[in-house]
Amino acid sequence: MKVFKFGGASVKDAEAVKNVAEIIRMYQGESLAVVVSAMGKTTNAFEKLHRAFFLKEGDANQQLQEIKDFHFQILEGLFPDSKHKVYQEIHNTFVEVEWQLEDDPIGTFDFEYDQMVSLGEMLSTKIISAYLLEVGISNKWLDARDVIRTDNHYRKAYVDWELSNSLIKKVMGGFFEKEEGGIMITQGFIAATSENYTSTLGREGSDFSAAIIASALQAEEVVIWKDVEGMLNADPKYFEKTVKLNNISYREAVELAYFGASVIHPKTIKPLHNANIPLYVKSFVNPSNRGSLIDANTDSDSLVPSYIHKPGQILISIASKDYAFIAENNLSDIYRVFSEHGVSINMMQNSAISFSVCVDDESPKVDKLIKALQEHFLVTYNKSVELLTIRHYTEDIIEELLSGKSNLLEQKSRNTARFVLKKIS
Ligand code: ASP
Ligand code: MG
Repeated sequence: MKVFKFGGASVKDAEAVKNVAEIIRMYQGESLAVVVSAMGKTTNAFEKLHRAFFLKEGDANQQLQEIKDFHFQILEGLFPDSKHKVYQEIHNTFVEVEWQLEDDPIGTFDFEYDQMVSLGEMLSTKIISAYLLEVGISNKWLDARDVIRTDNHYRKAYVDWELSNSLIKKVMGGFFEKEEGGIMITQGFIAATSENYTSTLGREGSDFSAAIIASALQAEEVVIWKDVEGMLNADPKYFEKTVKLNNISYREAVELAYFGASVIHPKTIKPLHNANIPLYVKSFVNPSNRGSLIDANTDSDSLVPSYIHKPGQILISIASKDYAFIAENNLSDIYRVFSEHGVSINMMQNSAISFSVCVDDESPKVDKLIKALQEHFLVTYNKSVELLTIRHYTEDIIEELLSGKSNLLEQKSRNTARFVLKKIS
C-alpha cells in the first residue's frame, strides 16, 4: 500500500479537489491511505479565529463567516445539488465551532487552539471523501484521532508510538486486509490525547502524520503531492532561480528540513528512514512526473547549494546581570525557560557573557518567554529579522544573498552557512 499526502494548496478550491480525485483515480486498484490538510489557507484563518476568541483580537463572528463562505463556495463548485447530505454535514461541523465560541475559553491558549484549529482538517476530509464517493471512487473516511495518539503538549504534541502503531495496524491495516485496493481518507496534523482531547502535531504536521501511518503499515512508499515539481533547492517564493533535487538522501533531507526548508515537516524523515520507506515529492499539476525521491541513496544531489529562508524571526540576546560568564550552569537554566515556554531555538551562539538565540517570533509565547528570562538576565532583542541557511555554500552565493542586508549573526560549518539578517532600510 501507499500513503499519499495532499497539502492545503492541493485542495484550495473546487478545481483543485477535482484534480486530487483524478490523481487518486490514476492509482485505482492500489490500497491508498490518503492524508489531507486543511483547504488552502484555512489553518491560518482558524488561527485568527482562535485569537479572536481567546485573546479578543478582532471579530470572531466575522472571521468564522469567512471560513464558512470559503468552504461553502468549494462545496457549491463540487456538489451542484444543494440537497446533497454533505451540506448538512459541513453545517454541523460549523455548529461545533459556534458552540466553542459561545462559551468562555476553559483551557490554555494552546489547548483551545488545538480544539478549534483542528476543524480545518475535519472539514477538508469530509468534503473530499464525499466528493470521491460522488465521482464513483469508494473510500472510507477515518477520524485520525482514533489512531494517532499523543501526550498533552498541545500544538506540538509528542506521539505515543506504541499505542499509535498498534491502533493504525488494527484499524487501517485491518481495513486494507479486508479491502484490497481500498482507499482511506484521513486528516493530517491532528491527533488525540489519552483523555480524548484533540491535539495537533505542529504547523505543517500533515507530512508527519503521513509518515507515522506509513511506518506503522510498512507502506511501500509515501508521496507528498505539491504545487512544485519536487523538492527544490530553494523556496520559489523567495528565490528566482530554483533547481529540482532529484535524489536526496534521508540524511540530507533531515538537515534541510531541520534548517527550515518548508517542503517537508522536519519530523517526517525519521520514521521513514527507520522503516526504510521511500518518500516521493511530486507535482499535483504534473502527476506523472517522477518528482524528487528521498531514500537511503547516497549518490544524492546533495552538493547542489540549497537556500532556506525563514522570515518572522526574533534575535534574542541574553546576558548575565553581573558580568558573570554564561556557562553550563546558567545555560541549563536558560534552556529550561525555553523548553517551559515551548519555544524552539532555530540558531544559537554564545560569547563569554551573552547567549544569542534566533526563534520564530510567535506571540504571546515569545513575549512570556522574554519576561521570564528578564527575571534573571539582561535581555535585548531584535524583531523582524530573517534566518538564512545555505547548504553547500560558496562565497559568491553568500555575497549575492547578503547584499542589501545587515548581518547580525553568522555561523559557518563545512557544509552549512547561517545568517541572521535584517533588511537595510
Ligand atoms: N493544516 C496544517 C497547517 O497548515 C497542517 C498541514 O498543512 O500540514 O499547518
Ligand atoms: Mg505543507
